[in-house]
Amino acid sequence: MDLQKSIIKVQKRIRKCVKEANRKFEDVHLIAVTKYFGVKINEQLYDLGLREFGENRADVFLKKVYKLENRKNIIWHFIGNLQRRKVKQVINKIDYFHALDRFSLAVEIEKQAAKKIKCFVEVNISKEKSKHGFKAKEVEAFIYELRNFTKIEVVGLMTVAALSASKEELHKCFRQLKILQERIASLRIAYAPCTEVSMGMSQDFEIALLKGASYIRIGTALYS
Ligand SMILES: *Cc1c(COP(=O)(O)O)cnc(C)c1O
Repeated sequence: MDLQKSIIKVQKRIRKCVKEANRKFEDVHLIAVTKYFGVKINEQLYDLGLREFGENRADVFLKKVYKLENRKNIIWHFIGNLQRRKVKQVINKIDYFHALDRFSLAVEIEKQAAKKIKCFVEVNISKEKSKHGFKAKEVEAFIYELRNFTKIEVVGLMTVAALSASKEELHKCFRQLKILQERIASLRIAYAPCTEVSMGMSQDFEIALLKGASYIRIGTALYS
């Protein structure tokens, strides 16, 4: 596994897409999803210049945060479903939380957070039963429900596309999330600027970038 080679390859693909979409490379955040491996991989990726890491399990996440305490400027993204009882342990160590998918979780975050938490509201665009997230038509109402919360900042929307989706379905899925994000942003809600879009994984990040993704979450492609 040649990490440096894979990073360069992924970055090349990102550059090509952003150029095609008339966007800037610097405006895209590459989140290295490190959930498949131990902290050594994070260290190697860090030494190769990556600073944004994505984890999806509370216990592993905490261990890695602790072990990498001395490395400066790491941005931690929590990308997975978070159980309510784990919120207290992890929430104040997370820089971006990508999976705000229910009101009860928001209530717990509000209770346990010591600072404003940057959250993505997760949207189940592909409408798979097994998926977490709000239906598209529920998102606006949910965000209004947060109006008296002081610790939640809705920085954007997040989705996971269907694994089996065709190219056409991926285009549609990502376009829908982008349109929804822009609509929420246009409401000018102080606690929900909603300027960001977290979408695209190893299989589909190129289409996501064409449709306006600002955070892409890449695992497998970095390790192949
Ligand atoms: C694992 C995971 C990823 C990364 O997936 P790859 O296909 O390995 O790039 C991205 N987003 C979420 C929510 C994940 O759980």
